[in-house]
Amino acid sequence: MQPTEAQRGIRDQFRRFMTEELERATPAFEQGSELPYALMRRMVETLGLGGSGGGGGGGSDTQDKAADDPELAALMSYARTQLTVEMCRVNPGFALSFGASTGLFGSNVRGKGTAEQVAKYAGPVMRFEKIGCWCLTEPGAGSDALRSMKTRARRDGDEYVISGEKTFVTNAPHADYFLIYAKSDDGSVQAFIAERGAPGLTTSEPFKKMGMRSSPTGAVYMDELRVPADNLLGGGVKDRDHVRSSLASERIGLALMGYGIAERCFEIALDYAKTHHRSGQPIGNFQLVQQRLARMYVALSNARRIVYSSEPTSVLDACAGKLYVGEVGTQVAMDAIHILGGNGYMEEYVVERLARDAKLVEIGGGTTEMQILTIARHLLA
Ligand SMILES: Cc1cc2nc3c(=O)[nH]c(=O)nc-3n(C[C@H](O)[C@H](O)[C@H](O)COP(=O)(O)OP(=O)(O)OC[C@H]3O[C@@H](n4cnc5c(N)ncnc54)[C@H](O)[C@@H]3O)c2cc1C
Repeated sequence: MQPTEAQRGIRDQFRRFMTEELERATPAFEQGSELPYALMRRMVETLGLGGSGGGGGGGSDTQDKAADDPELAALMSYARTQLTVEMCRVNPGFALSFGASTGLFGSNVRGKGTAEQVAKYAGPVMRFEKIGCWCLTEPGAGSDALRSMKTRARRDGDEYVISGEKTFVTNAPHADYFLIYAKSDDGSVQAFIAERGAPGLTTSEPFKKMGMRSSPTGAVYMDELRVPADNLLGGGVKDRDHVRSSLASERIGLALMGYGIAERCFEIALDYAKTHHRSGQPIGNFQLVQQRLARMYVALSNARRIVYSSEPTSVLDACAGKLYVGEVGTQVAMDAIHILGGNGYMEEYVVERLARDAKLVEIGGGTTEMQILTIARHLLA
């Protein structure tokens, strides 16, 4: 499964940008002294990902051509995959914020919104003029987000009135647009688009977190928030499948994040094993180190086959992929720390940050347990 020449060209271009630009900006993002959004805009422009395809993989002209050209379509799909992998090799938090804005908000509105909603809200987010966020989780509703949702929306003339609280929302502290899930009077879950500045909508300061520190996370408070009836996503999609399909694409993205982390950590550990000496020889000469490296390689190879598979992904496969690759990300990152010994525990060697970031892949978009339950439900249905 070696990349083709065209794929290598894309990968090398992406990698250069991440090594030259994202690497340099990462300390400021991690400390919270700078926000990641301006660099996302520059990345999209520099790598030619603009137009309506800001989520990766070519501008709108390219997308039109790809409709009639399977080879170009496959290359664009590779570019989307590789963009996430390359971001995560350097800074997974940056990728998380990018994905929440362009994917969870932008692609969702583009895919499910009315023509007006696509033009007004998805376009500016895909062009990075605005930042989006996706608001599902609540303090009292996480793994059971749909069942236990307390946020309510009621119709009042030409408006909906929304009250409730969302938490752990990526980009919430700085987002311009919010895709908010709420239960309507008939108990169905609907999605509403709200804009920052609307009376009744406030957000928290960024939370302090274990990892993904380049990605601002916060709460969203809705106190009799009024949104125009036109802001009901897609004019009303009374269908839980639409939340579930958002979760499926989020899970594919998260698996890619786990893979990018594992790939970089493995490379750092392998290089270290060849160059770091103890007892007068490289530590890679010791069989116990070799065993750890070999196991890391096997896990990484399996993860690679999953994330680069060209098969269309079902919900079952999205859950299976996220479950497996999420665990590989954390395990390989922890193994890399171990191979680096004390250095692995130090900030300078990057693997400790990647390991902290990796843990999110096992929690966000549904925990490991939720993936297992969904896989079993699909198998036994
Ligand atoms: C950095 C970060 C970014 C995030 N970004 C977003 C975002 O942009 N938008 C958004 O809406 N949410 C976001 N989330 C929320 C995330 O999706 C939830 O944290 C996740 O779904 C888990 O929900 P919870 O935290 O409420 O955990 P809980 O549901 O409270 O789970 C706690 C533990 O109980 C287990 N558990 C729960 N129910 C069961 C069960 N039935 N069977 C077995 N075990 C169970 C879980 O697996 C877990 O181990 C983010 C979270 C983080 C940490």
